[in-house]
Amino acid sequence: MQSASRTPGLPASSTSAQGRSPVLIAREQAHGAHNYAPLPVVLARGEGAWVTDVDGKRYLDLMSAYSAVSFGHAHPRIVGALVQQAQRLAVTSRAYYNDRLPLLMERLTRLTGLPRMLPANGGAEAVETALKAARKWGHEVKGIPEGRAGILACEGNFHGRTIAITGLSTEPQYRDGFGPFPPGLATVPYGDAAALERAITPDTAAFLVEPVQGEAGIVVPPDGYLAECARICRRHRVLLICDEVQTGLGRTGYLLASEHDGVKPDGVVLGKALGGGLLPVSAFLATDDVMQVFRPGDHGSTFGGNPLAAAVAMAALDVLFDERLIPRARSLGEMLQRRLRAIGSPLIADVRGRGLLVGIEVDAGRVSAREVVERLLARGILSKETHGTVVRIAPPLTIEESALEWAVGEIAATFAALEAEAMAPA
Ligand SMILES: *Cc1c(COP(=O)(O)O)cnc(C)c1O
Repeated sequence: MQSASRTPGLPASSTSAQGRSPVLIAREQAHGAHNYAPLPVVLARGEGAWVTDVDGKRYLDLMSAYSAVSFGHAHPRIVGALVQQAQRLAVTSRAYYNDRLPLLMERLTRLTGLPRMLPANGGAEAVETALKAARKWGHEVKGIPEGRAGILACEGNFHGRTIAITGLSTEPQYRDGFGPFPPGLATVPYGDAAALERAITPDTAAFLVEPVQGEAGIVVPPDGYLAECARICRRHRVLLICDEVQTGLGRTGYLLASEHDGVKPDGVVLGKALGGGLLPVSAFLATDDVMQVFRPGDHGSTFGGNPLAAAVAMAALDVLFDERLIPRARSLGEMLQRRLRAIGSPLIADVRGRGLLVGIEVDAGRVSAREVVERLLARGILSKETHGTVVRIAPPLTIEESALEWAVGEIAATFAALEAEAMAPA
């Protein structure tokens, strides 16, 4: 297989007409668990809003790894912080203090107005932390009998993939075969505050909610929904915990999407973008009243709060504010949604979102979201379908306006081509 014109082990630029993608995809298929169905592109490099595949083709990233890459790929300032900190001190465990974590704690608590932070790695880990805090708070502070503290979440929620969180899911595919789940978990319809109030019992410790449901298909609740939920939670002494893993840190045109409704939750979960597109970094932020349930030894994480993660998160926050990305997400998001609506294709059932978290719902009877996503890929655009009917558009907040405008043109052309094919006689 080795040819004379090629150095073994180095990426080949001209070894075959097809390139390296099929070979690598076959290897992953052969050796990996099949828990994803990736689009057929093998990415090798990224810079800002652009990525390049192993064969040198460029794509505009309108997905940002589900908001983990909100500040673009390889942001020089965040990469610089990573490299510097990696050379100094990366991982210590929480058996000792380190000289970076206190700075991140001070910064994030000041920004969010919640006085205490507990660091973790992935988003699900921070959500689990929130659930444990809520249950212990329910028992110790609210006086719910031990072992009875309940959690309410919303239909269509996505909070991660652990067993307990999966137990909260209403998506059959996420649950099937993974039971039994912990007791004390229940859901209410999303966007319906009265349903929340009806579901609350004296044993309810917390209501866990996404300000905009991402995985469910960019579902935006009615204005004022979260504010009404906050009033209900206060009235019944139930903690309001907002999962802002996807919506937080500027994505919706606010630092936290819960600000849209002027709400101050008792707890907030952050993740994804907090890692600056480089590392898994997450955090649970909460009031003193909630966080004081944790005493030394109650809960922890070997990697959570490591100095490398803290330095990267600090740099990510610097970028968020120094580059004014929050107002940018708001204005670019308005432009994007306006221009997507203006496409006016009969194949588009709805365009919705907040800031740069946008979904295009297709007319499911006539075209699948996957089909649209695959055609966009062929045109050099990365997007992702969710639930078969919604195309997720969530570019890095740093995306150039001209690039986003180009992408809207390609999206319009894609729908025009699909329409023309639908009209053509079979
Ligand atoms: C992605 C996501 C999570 C889970 O984060 P992981 O890092 O994948 O564990 C939790 N909540 C929301 C709202 C998310 O979008």
